[in-house]
Amino acid sequence: MYLHEEQITCPYCWEAITLLVDPSESQTYTEDCFVCCRPILVNTQVTGDQITIEVTQEDLGF
Ligand SMILES: [Zn+2]
Repeated sequence: MYLHEEQITCPYCWEAITLLVDPSESQTYTEDCFVCCRPILVNTQVTGDQITIEVTQEDLGF
């Protein structure tokens, strides 16, 4: 499966990290930050070949 690389900023430690995103569908999931290991809530919106990513702290939700 092809995965798209997107850079985001961790909502906890503000480090720039790279996520591997499945570009085939929009989805919401939790991914642990590679730097601080806290759970980042990730929302991906796939529109054609455009991918929009939102991230927030898991406790806050969208
Ligand atoms: Zn972090």
